[in-house]
Amino acid sequence: MVARAARATDLVDLDGAVADCFACQRLVAWREEVARTRRAAFRDQTYWGRPVPGFGVADARIGILGLAPAAHGGNRTGRIFTGDRSGDVLFAALHRAGLANQPTSVAADDGLALRDTRIFAAVRCAPPDNKPTPAERDTCAPWLRREVALIRPTLRIVVALGAFAWAAWWPTLREVYGVRPPSPRPAFGHGAHWSGTAAPALLGCYHVSQQNTFTGRLTPGMLDDVFARAKQLAGVD
Ligand code: SF4
Repeated sequence: MVARAARATDLVDLDGAVADCFACQRLVAWREEVARTRRAAFRDQTYWGRPVPGFGVADARIGILGLAPAAHGGNRTGRIFTGDRSGDVLFAALHRAGLANQPTSVAADDGLALRDTRIFAAVRCAPPDNKPTPAERDTCAPWLRREVALIRPTLRIVVALGAFAWAAWWPTLREVYGVRPPSPRPAFGHGAHWSGTAAPALLGCYHVSQQNTFTGRLTPGMLDDVFARAKQLAGVD
């Protein structure tokens, strides 16, 4: 799988290879179990039930790094942050920022397109309780690294959604850019910012989970501020 990731020549090739990954026994069993049993509201749908590739343009200047697909969101629709409440909040914000052509993301064929932006996750399969193990994160890391390597020529900033994504970025920095991560690592926080000279900047943002958005910990205004800053740091109009 590491070799397959390294061989991917472009994002189309990479996306196809990611979707065919069976490296993590526990996550493969879970994604397929969820796809088989389904949620009552989606009983008439065929779930994707496989790893979820990144989504967005190949010349992205802004990367958005999430944790992992949701069991009944990305794992159902086959597109990251699509078909769940987290995606509703994220894409509404990207649309307000001028980075998405529509404010909703309900299905892989709904016409959604991004500008200057690519979204990817640290772990590509839906994990039980949204909690991948450190071993699963490490096993999946070659997909993230290859994706970042492929968009490296244009990538200027990565927005890390939550502490898990923030922590997942540092090994990527070392492996893709040959940049030694700062020590101690900068702490994750909403609005936390790290920048180096030979790599994209990193911007922290609370995850767009219902836990954060329903409680008001993360508001639409806070997301607007993050994406305005990301655009400014990336040189996006
Ligand atoms: S989590 Fe990543 S490495 Fe594990 S099976 Fe899914 S795509 Fe493969």
